[in-house]
Amino acid sequence: MAGLTINNVTKKFQAFEALKDVSIDVREGEFLAVLGPSGCGKTTLLRIIAGFEQVSQGEIRIGGKVVSSAKLNVAPENRRIGIVFQNYALWPHMTVAENIGYSLKIAKTPTAEREQRVSEALKLVDMQGYGDRAPANLSGGQRQRVALARCLVATPELVLFDEPLANLDVHLRASMEDEFADFHKRTGTTIVYITHDQSEAMALADRIAVMDQGRLVQLDTPHKLYHEPATPMVASFISQGMVLPVEVTSSGVDGTCAASLFGQPITLRCRPSGDPRGTALACCRSEMVRIVGQGEAGFEGKIMRVVYQGGLARIEFAPDAAPDVTVHFVQADPITLEPGQTAKLAFAGGWRIPSEGAI
Ligand code: ATP
Repeated sequence: MAGLTINNVTKKFQAFEALKDVSIDVREGEFLAVLGPSGCGKTTLLRIIAGFEQVSQGEIRIGGKVVSSAKLNVAPENRRIGIVFQNYALWPHMTVAENIGYSLKIAKTPTAEREQRVSEALKLVDMQGYGDRAPANLSGGQRQRVALARCLVATPELVLFDEPLANLDVHLRASMEDEFADFHKRTGTTIVYITHDQSEAMALADRIAVMDQGRLVQLDTPHKLYHEPATPMVASFISQGMVLPVEVTSSGVDGTCAASLFGQPITLRCRPSGDPRGTALACCRSEMVRIVGQGEAGFEGKIMRVVYQGGLARIEFAPDAAPDVTVHFVQADPITLEPGQTAKLAFAGGWRIPSEGAI
């Protein structure tokens, strides 16, 4: 097992910068998810860590040893990295045990040791007794576990997952998420897990690196990303946070600041560093929205859409003070709200997104 250091890495494809000065320190035994929208540079980062691409600037270190820089590129097979791809890539003509033991066979590992290591790897992914099966006779989740066992048999220092659940149905995804989490707990392997699915990243990772347009925009725990997004992009990408315009009226040295949202006073959490007063953006979450009575403080507006989701509905609301802005919240069954109705809402709080450059 080893830690991974990505140090000021830039990757250029001709004039285009796919990665821009990315730095991430992955601790030994940590589960790090790299999350971001399509085209943000996730796969490029994975390919650089694995050794399929060379950095243009900066360096990659595994367990303290430099494996990639502008001058040096250690070959993938010499990096002791395991990779689990989304398409499993199992050999159809080999049994499960043969698939898992293939790299050991190529390395001329003696048969007894090979069988022992294959059986240990099968045990690690909870697939004892499946060694003689053909991959065709396994479910998608079982194939993904065989792919994981095949990468573990080579005792990698670091395991990279490239969107491993992308081809699985919703139910199987949830159970594989549990299995990956269990596997990480049992083995303590350092994992870098690439995904564009934020709920998967939140469920699995110790920390999440959010990327956008080749840059690292925030590296934090799932809880911190949710409650204290560093940019409007992170706020809206993580659990569809609402990014709303506010007028901040106090400088917030104690970690909260006074502001006005749709003409109503609101107390926001904020960095204690004292971002300037004035126009700013706040991240508000739907669970902080409350429908209030006519005599109470709140902002008026109109229900625009009601989308039933089973047990609850997502309600979209346009405030009279800013009809172009959408406020969304949920109502549990029985659903009483309808499009066209007027209502009055209040926010119990929110997070002031730091001014640009304040992090
Ligand atoms: P997705 O989730 O869609 O797979 P991604 O976040 O993995 O996206 P990358 O595949 O890393 O994104 O691509 C990042 C950017 O770099 C994209 O704009 C892509 O077109 C560009 N890019 C990637 N590989 C090359 C290449 N070999 N030559 C030129 N541009 C490339």
